[in-house]
Amino acid sequence: AKDAGRGRVEVYDDDLRQTLAAQAALEDGLRRALAEDELVLHYQPVTDLRTGLVGSVEALVRWQKPGEGLVPPGVFIPVAENSDLICDLGRWALRTSLAQLAQFDASGGPGAGLRVAVNVSGRHLRSPRLVDDVRCALEASGTAPDRLALEITETVMVEDDAAWARLEELRAIGVQIAIDDFGTGYTSFGQLARVPVDVLKIDRSFVDSEDPRTVELVRLVVGAARSFGLRVVAEGVEQVSQVRALQAVGCDTVQGYYFSRPVAADRLPAAVTGCHEV
Ligand code: C2E
Ligand code: CA
Ligand code: CA
Ligand code: CA
Repeated sequence: AKDAGRGRVEVYDDDLRQTLAAQAALEDGLRRALAEDELVLHYQPVTDLRTGLVGSVEALVRWQKPGEGLVPPGVFIPVAENSDLICDLGRWALRTSLAQLAQFDASGGPGAGLRVAVNVSGRHLRSPRLVDDVRCALEASGTAPDRLALEITETVMVEDDAAWARLEELRAIGVQIAIDDFGTGYTSFGQLARVPVDVLKIDRSFVDSEDPRTVELVRLVVGAARSFGLRVVAEGVEQVSQVRALQAVGCDTVQGYYFSRPVAADRLPAAVTGCHEV
């Protein structure tokens, strides 16, 4: 029994070692990917249902791994979040998306004048460098701060006073703040009145549900957001029935495969034009 017990511990150690080795390899690969320009941003349109116009896009990172095609962020973001690598990635995403925005402006095409939303991880938000990173990226691109929104998951912002202060500092510069995946974390209805944010992104799981109580909940959230002066974006809209349901509860801004998948920068002008049918 003693031997068996020790055996189990060794198996466990082996598993753990393998997991850690795999993570370390992924981390090394990602560090190299950043240095060698293997990361790309795709952009997903956010459509205003009242006008049919695309006012902004969300920047979503992909890893163009040589010989392997596009690796989705779900595979490498969680690993990047274990170290300051996620801050390097965040800095890169801010610089790249804002530089892209300036290029869209200069082109004068359908991408001109768009705003961009960039995902910021909790670790970067807790880092004292975030505000400088944002400032530098804005300066380098020459874009106005109100063209940029930072998407932050709600869990992070309620638990950390320094992070909260940082959000207020960013808003003072003129940058917009969005709560991402709203409804999956811990922001209470009461906190909605106080959080330093401009936009609330309703998580896909709510858009997906046909349960009448969930629909009612979305109606309440949209109403509360409006009275607190927040804008609302519904995420993960895939079907016209969802568009109609969201319109019925007063949610006017939507994002999802129904309108467009995230696309590479060169395909964005066409995607923006194609979103007009609502
Ligand atoms: P997220 O911020 O919630 O992004 C929305 C995700 O939903 C994206 O997945 C998008 O492709 C997907 N999506 C959009 N419309 C639909 C739809 O109609 N149906 C379905 N089923 N999915 C839809 P993606 O690009 O794989 O990104 C996954 C997550 O990775 C993001 O979730 C975000 O948390 C993280 N992420 C992506 N890019 C970055 C980044 O640059 N920095 C950081 N820190 N995180 C990022
Ligand atoms: Ca997001
Ligand atoms: Ca989201
Ligand atoms: Ca998410």
